[in-house]
Amino acid sequence: MSEDLHDSQTQIDIFAKLGKDLASTTHAETAARIILDAADQLIGWDACYLILYDPQRGGKPRPLLTIDTIEGKHVVQKGAAPDKPSENMLKAIQQGGFLSLYDEHFEIAPALSFGDYKKRTLSQLFVPVVSGVRTIGVLSIQSYQIHAYQNEQLDLLNNLASHCAGALERIWAQEALTDLVERLKVLHQAVSDINASLDVERVCQVVYETVIKVMPCDDFVVDGYDSKTNEIVPIFAIEHPGRRVYTQKYFADHGLAGEIVRTKKPIVFNSIQEMNKSDIHFEFYGSQVDDDPTESILAVPMMLHGQIYGMISAQSYGQNAYNHDDQYLLEMLASHVAIAIENARLFDSVQQAAYTDALTSTLNRRRFYELSEIEFDRVKESKQPLAIIMLDVDDFKKFNDQFGHKVGDFVLIQVAETCKSSLRGNDIFGRLGGEEFALTLPNTKLEYALEIATRLCKLIQQLDCNQAAQHFDKDLFQNNYQLTVTVSIGVAVYDETCKNLDTLIDRADQAMYIAKNSGRNQVHVWGS
Ligand code: GH3
Ligand code: MG
Ligand code: MG
Repeated sequence: MSEDLHDSQTQIDIFAKLGKDLASTTHAETAARIILDAADQLIGWDACYLILYDPQRGGKPRPLLTIDTIEGKHVVQKGAAPDKPSENMLKAIQQGGFLSLYDEHFEIAPALSFGDYKKRTLSQLFVPVVSGVRTIGVLSIQSYQIHAYQNEQLDLLNNLASHCAGALERIWAQEALTDLVERLKVLHQAVSDINASLDVERVCQVVYETVIKVMPCDDFVVDGYDSKTNEIVPIFAIEHPGRRVYTQKYFADHGLAGEIVRTKKPIVFNSIQEMNKSDIHFEFYGSQVDDDPTESILAVPMMLHGQIYGMISAQSYGQNAYNHDDQYLLEMLASHVAIAIENARLFDSVQQAAYTDALTSTLNRRRFYELSEIEFDRVKESKQPLAIIMLDVDDFKKFNDQFGHKVGDFVLIQVAETCKSSLRGNDIFGRLGGEEFALTLPNTKLEYALEIATRLCKLIQQLDCNQAAQHFDKDLFQNNYQLTVTVSIGVAVYDETCKNLDTLIDRADQAMYIAKNSGRNQVHVWGS
């Protein structure tokens, strides 16, 4: 440091340049470099560092910039940060940042003296970098000379530290804003994807993929709320690492979702301690038992038409994972998700209604054909067997005439229920119209189809319709009548002469008519 630098005009010039340089940088490390260069010009140092207490890491120190002088040259070090500031450092900061180290005291030298170890740090200045009331870091310079620093230098370094704080806060605010803008872009895309989908699972998948892009998220949950039963109904849940998990519904008097339903307010916890302090009894997934417990939780309500609809939650195994921006983003998403899920459900129920026969709640003719067509196409390629069973209630006109249409309706429901109870996973069952039903049985050989048909024929004959019929007309059905129906059944199985589904169904139909003409209440196989 040359003599003329003590000249106050020079100091003013250095600070003026510093202000300008800092204003034009958008990079924290560059700002640190500018500050430390100014400290070198104003005070002089052999080694120096700027360490930040990183709020994102629970206030742990992280070195932003560490520079040593090695063989006369400034060398930037990748200094490892200690877990917490050393006792000496804190003491020195409390005492005004001034620490002069003598040979005999060297053992108390701060753990953070880097530098050229062939030459010892004998003087060191520490100053806190303070923003508002918060200490955001420590700025330190070191010298290999004894008594290198006086109070005057401490004042200068303090002055530099306040410039540093201002610059860092501005840079971080800018970074946060840029980051938020980027995240909003991701969100914007997500919202259009969400609104374009009419499938609940797909909607939730898009939300999950968006959330992991914009905030820490190891576990992710979308829960619905059923106000009629006061239950939390899980809609979608992902557990680290990206595994879809399925959970049971539960009463909304506990748990995270229960709390959100009750308060309709977001919840943010950034440590296990915070969670433990709350009254909420959390229900975590398997991950909680192993080494990665959930440390942070962000949960927001999903509202629809002013009513609570459920909640979305992101959870992280890291501490301090969520801030206000994250909450804002998740709340924005949640408002769209509720609408999208509701739309998807409405669409689903409309579609369901379009597929379903209103009386028997089985597939209607159109849907039966659509699904059977898919199986038929599959069979043509796979050469697996495929059977069709046609079933028509016998003399049902007479039945109606005798007992009334309402009782007839009831019997049709009973017949449909009997058929449904004998279905296996991929079987397709529908009401083709009137008193006529059909089953498509994939991967089923003739013998087994015949067995099923014969069993159905028997079961329907044995149906006791009296009890149900009494429901409609007590007097008429008291004792005198034994109300029964029978069915005639036709069976056909796919072979290579079957060009299309209609041919196969037609064959089953022909077989059914042969069963009718042969006296009803029996099964006939096409071609036999
Ligand atoms: P077959 O043994 O030859 O099949 O005689 P059937 O009387 O059952 O056949 P037909 O085709 O002559 O008459 C069908 C009857 O089914 C006529 C109609 O009243 C009755 N039916 C059709 N749909 C319904 C329904 O939704 N409810 C009721 N209760 N009856 C129905
Ligand atoms: Mg009939
Ligand atoms: Mg008929």
